[in-house]
Amino acid sequence: MYLPDHVRECMDALETAGFCAYAVGGCVRDSLLGLTPQDYDLCTDALPEQLKEVFSHKSLVLAGEKHGTVGVIFGKTVVEITTFRTEGDYEDNRHPQWVEFVSDIAADLSRRDFTVNAMAYSPARGLVDPFGGQLDLQNRVLRAVGDPEKRFREDALRILRGARFAARYQLTPEPATEKAMIQLAPRLDSLSKERVFDELCKLILLADVPLLLRFAPIITQAVPVLASMVGFDQRSCHHAYDLYTHTAHTVCGVPAELPLRWAALLHDIGKPASLTLDEAGCGHYYGHAAVSAQMADAALRRLKAPTALREQVVFLIEKHMALPEPEPKFLRRWLSRYGEIPLTQLLQLQRADTLATGIHTDTSLFDRCGQIMAELLKEASCLSLKDLAVSGSDLLALGIPAGPAVGRCLHNLLEQVLDERIPNTPEALLEAAKSMEKSG
Ligand code: ATP
Ligand code: MG
Repeated sequence: MYLPDHVRECMDALETAGFCAYAVGGCVRDSLLGLTPQDYDLCTDALPEQLKEVFSHKSLVLAGEKHGTVGVIFGKTVVEITTFRTEGDYEDNRHPQWVEFVSDIAADLSRRDFTVNAMAYSPARGLVDPFGGQLDLQNRVLRAVGDPEKRFREDALRILRGARFAARYQLTPEPATEKAMIQLAPRLDSLSKERVFDELCKLILLADVPLLLRFAPIITQAVPVLASMVGFDQRSCHHAYDLYTHTAHTVCGVPAELPLRWAALLHDIGKPASLTLDEAGCGHYYGHAAVSAQMADAALRRLKAPTALREQVVFLIEKHMALPEPEPKFLRRWLSRYGEIPLTQLLQLQRADTLATGIHTDTSLFDRCGQIMAELLKEASCLSLKDLAVSGSDLLALGIPAGPAVGRCLHNLLEQVLDERIPNTPEALLEAAKSMEKSG
């Protein structure tokens, strides 16, 4: 296993001082998969006091000292070193009631969540893998360490972590682990909304369609408004799938960006409540975009999602049924109103929504709109007040009285430019401003 110099330096310092030191958890898992670890965590039999002594010459992060973690600073990175420990019962489903330091690496590994995360490595002692994590990794199996039910009862976040690791490494949960994940999903309600939201974000960025279907009982537990979509027959010739499956395809059809993934997940949650049937028995969902947007707003507030993200998502959902016209004049208006990034995302959502019908395959409208948009942006189109070829002071010089009239006049000029009624040149704009002033 490759270990960066600064990680090696920490391990050597500990070993020289008579302690043992291992790389542990995610970095071992990722290395065995041939991936570059995001960070390296170390564990050791040295107690926090002893760690502070061994690294007395370094800058340390001591915020986690009580739980046995000391961070050693190397420039911009921190190596977290944690004393071997076991944990007591989880009283509030979140914090263990006590932490006990132990001298044995195997005891430390046994408190970890999944076998693939419960391996340690030291250059001196090799791989420590008491639960068969390496084999599970090879066979792409997700397996809880110990009794799955007990482990998910201790900390329900592990259920969502399990789904995330399954998504990230294409692992299939072994039957007992999967059964416990689904059976204990209601325990997710006992977690703080922030932790759930955080895990869900990581999950939906990684998920594929089969995973979203497989873990529907977990995902709908975490986001209850999704529940009525599962198995919901859309009764529409435009849709091959039930509503939840359509949603899963939409999520996986948009780029892996949070506003888009959340918007895709929630874009149709208003459909069951908006269903009407025509004489032929076909389902229609008039106004469902607005209903979905409102429900998404409530769902994201409940999950304590950041305001900016929530607003982006609500915007995309609200507009997802409004199809653009592939005309420069039309798109210039939308660009001016919504901005480049939100409009790009809206087109991406609409394209994914189309393909996720399982019936429609023509996305040329979105491609054409994307091209026109790119041209409009390249030719430095006038899209906002600051792009106008005249400013407020030009209008003052023209004799327009200082005050709200100036702003009104500028807005009016922008409208005319967006509508291609006048070109964005100082002459044309001043001329138009003069006639506006005359006509009052
Ligand atoms: P990532 O690459 O996403 O950081 P990771 O495996 O390093 O993956 P972390 O959340 O950084 O995940 O946790 C580090 C290690 O701590 C895990 O590999 C696992 O052994 C253990 N761990 C983390 N959270 C839990 C938990 N809730 N229950 C049990 N063990 C956990
Ligand atoms: Mg990590």
